[in-house]
Amino acid sequence: MSAPLEACCPSDTARMNLDAALDRVAESLSGSITGRVRRSWPLAPLTTYRLGGPAALYVEPAGARDLELLGAALRGVGLEAGAIPVLPLGRGSNLVVSDDGIPGVVIRLGSRAAWIEPWGPPQPGLPEEGSRGATAGAATALPQLANWAARRGLEGMEFAVAIPGSVGGGLRMNAGAYGREIAECVAAVRVFSLDRLVLEVRSRSELGFAYRRSNLSEHDLVVDADFLLARGDTAAIRKRMDEYRRHRASTQPGAAQNAGSVFRNPPGDSAGRLIEAAGLKGCNKGGVAVSSLHANFFVAGPGALAQDVRDLVEHVRAAVYETSGVELEPEIRFVGAFNQQDAA
Ligand SMILES: Cc1cc2nc3c(=O)[nH]c(=O)nc-3n(C[C@H](O)[C@H](O)[C@H](O)COP(=O)(O)OP(=O)(O)OC[C@H]3O[C@@H](n4cnc5c(N)ncnc54)[C@H](O)[C@@H]3O)c2cc1C
Repeated sequence: MSAPLEACCPSDTARMNLDAALDRVAESLSGSITGRVRRSWPLAPLTTYRLGGPAALYVEPAGARDLELLGAALRGVGLEAGAIPVLPLGRGSNLVVSDDGIPGVVIRLGSRAAWIEPWGPPQPGLPEEGSRGATAGAATALPQLANWAARRGLEGMEFAVAIPGSVGGGLRMNAGAYGREIAECVAAVRVFSLDRLVLEVRSRSELGFAYRRSNLSEHDLVVDADFLLARGDTAAIRKRMDEYRRHRASTQPGAAQNAGSVFRNPPGDSAGRLIEAAGLKGCNKGGVAVSSLHANFFVAGPGALAQDVRDLVEHVRAAVYETSGVELEPEIRFVGAFNQQDAA
């Protein structure tokens, strides 16, 4: 397995070796792969924070064959030995990419992986009577899946109507809101394993879902997933979705540059309440500030750096610990190299 992305900061020599290896991967893919392959490709426009540097190698596989070619090319330069950091990227709504970028391979399934197919009439043996199934490609936007289900009078995905992530990222993070989470609706997931270079089917019980977590790793690329949705009342489903949208619009800085909740809620409490109680609303580091609308959202302004987000996270974490004794754990993911700062 490769080194964790949060910790990866190669030395000059290692970076030169990595560059040479990535040249070889890019070379072997160009001409054989259908999707895009780019060196030094900007990632900021692909994230909701719109911060951070480029991917040393950016690949947009168009399908299973491209994934196999990519996997084989990576293996050819020693992926198993941990030589190359790999990052699957969805809609970049839960990530902070380092200002130095990602010194490895960023893999993003493009628009061809954004699709939803119903399973058709009820399947024999479905666990819930009256439920229907659908399969969605990993790049499908979560609100698209929620709206698709609502149009058909299927319930379970309403919570996702305003979560700006993809099916792939949603499964990795076990996205959820309003007491529901994606783990409750998913039946099985097809994953391309970059370690074994095979497409594997994993059932819900094998995915280790917990609060905003799964056991999917950087080497597990979600390709598509089967969802099981119960029949419901279309008007009631739409009403819930409207309520969720309205609630968000009035309580969260959705349009600003951010990546949603910064910290996981500690058991029995809310991170936003603890941050507010520590008097940190409006507090800032560089161009990033704690939102005055919702204290668990940190918003970036003009001139902000990804490092500012990291510094503010460390500062807030230390201040909340000092005032409440609670150690907050980040929900947003930092990828690439960051400086460890004094929390003060
Ligand atoms: C305004 C706003 C509101 C939000 N509200 C919520 C909320 O209510 N609830 C909630 O849970 N989250 C919320 N989020 C966070 C975010 O939208 C979710 O975590 C979402 O599921 C992330 O999906 P993504 O496609 O953007 O993933 P990314 O941010 O691109 O990636 C997140 C993680 O998933 C991995 N990943 C991405 N695609 C794949 C793939 N195909 N295969 C394997 N791994 C993959 C990445 O490597 C990374 O580890 C919010 C974010 C914003 C900006």
